[in-house]
Amino acid sequence: MRFIDKPKRCQEFDNFISNPNNLLGKWDLPTDVKTTLHNHLVEEQKGLCIYCQQAISKKSGIDYPPKTLIEHLRPRGKYPELTFVYCNLSVSCQGFDCHQKVDRPPKGKKFCGHGRGEEYDENKFLNPTELTDLEEYFEYSADGKIRPSKKAPEKAEYMIEILDLKHETLKDMRKEQHLIFKERLDSGLLTIEELEELLSDSNSSELPPFYSMLKFLFAM
Ligand SMILES: [Zn+2]
Repeated sequence: MRFIDKPKRCQEFDNFISNPNNLLGKWDLPTDVKTTLHNHLVEEQKGLCIYCQQAISKKSGIDYPPKTLIEHLRPRGKYPELTFVYCNLSVSCQGFDCHQKVDRPPKGKKFCGHGRGEEYDENKFLNPTELTDLEEYFEYSADGKIRPSKKAPEKAEYMIEILDLKHETLKDMRKEQHLIFKERLDSGLLTIEELEELLSDSNSSELPPFYSMLKFLFAM
């Protein structure tokens, strides 16, 4: 997880919520507004799931099974007044490896927003849109494991738990991503300077999947 800055709002979404009648109902945006908002948020997150950092894509049509969902960081059920608040919105994966070709969502427990449901503890939730130092709460190892750092272990453990960031699928994806980068560095296909450039948040519009893990493991 990493801090997500939200300085640029989504115009189409703002137009929609400027009509007070639209705010009376439930979270039921017209498809075009929802798609534009979704894609705006994916861009804001530089192409990564808000929680696990697997790569997510913009929507062009209807995917089945759906790969992503617009995620209310403070859940709608507990904070209905934040349903249409832009700062509370992000995009999460649906809790499975989005890049596998599947006909239906895999069975079993899922990770990220889908797995979390309405779980939210204001005292423990590490909010990606509020904590600029969010990356410092987690540590990673080359075998794909994630663990809390010493910064606030109870909070980090809570996040790992509710989002199931230790899920076997995620662990394997992180392990694989580390290996790819390690092999590229070891074989000279990638220099450390090029890796630094790739992991420089400020000048790229897309970041490599599991960005925070790569930064941690390659000590950047
Ligand atoms: Zn995810």
